[in-house]
Amino acid sequence: MTIARKLMKPALRWLNPKTSDRLKDFKMNKNTNLKPNILIVEDEPALVEMLQYNLEKAAFRTEVARDGEEALLVVSETKPDLVILDWMLPYISGIEVCRRIRRDPETRDLPVIMLTARGEESDRIRGLESGADDYVTKPFSPSELVARTKAVMRRTRPIFNSEALTYADVHMDLSSHRVTRNDKIVLLGPTEFRLLRFLLERPERVFEREQLLDHVWGLEADIEPRTVDVHIRRLRMAMNQPGAPDLIRTVRSAGYALELRNEV
Ligand code: CA
Repeated sequence: MTIARKLMKPALRWLNPKTSDRLKDFKMNKNTNLKPNILIVEDEPALVEMLQYNLEKAAFRTEVARDGEEALLVVSETKPDLVILDWMLPYISGIEVCRRIRRDPETRDLPVIMLTARGEESDRIRGLESGADDYVTKPFSPSELVARTKAVMRRTRPIFNSEALTYADVHMDLSSHRVTRNDKIVLLGPTEFRLLRFLLERPERVFEREQLLDHVWGLEADIEPRTVDVHIRRLRMAMNQPGAPDLIRTVRSAGYALELRNEV
């Protein structure tokens, strides 16, 4: 999987000329990684720039794909939290990309906002039938798109707007940074806190080590995927309580998930 990460990085840099700037941001403030990650799929550079600027100003993290094939690749590699998907794309249309996202059990629930220049009612219906959560007609104002993005996020991922995160008997208060399990305080280092927060926001989803590195640590190239194992171990030790189930599931050769399993 290290290979996938190495392959993906130059691709993402190529896709997104702002990546090097964002890299600097991540090093300055690692919390930026925990912002919801939005994939913009659009082949018009000016529109991409406008969307990136406005979404990042609205406290989202963005990634860009210029055609449908790249979109599907980025979706499986980085697991974004929402996709803004242009209808008219080279090679594979936005509608087809949306259908494929919906067909894959891994991405079935990924929120999608479809962009299109066509305003006809029949197209709108086709767009929604393909499984898009919302549909925005070009031209649109940046503030409208940001508002619609926030609305879809609120509806489909309410967890991103909460002040506290809860899963099973784990509770995380985001303002006081207090974590409890079964009402007992859990003491965590800053990395374990970010790791747990990322997983609490996306429970029961399996993340590869490389994906956790990108989201929790940022796009720094010199961290080994094994580092993730070290911090997962620390997180497990801090959260484990006698008689309570281990909430971190290790998926062999895949990665980790926060998951309460009913088996003994
Ligand atoms: Ca287009």
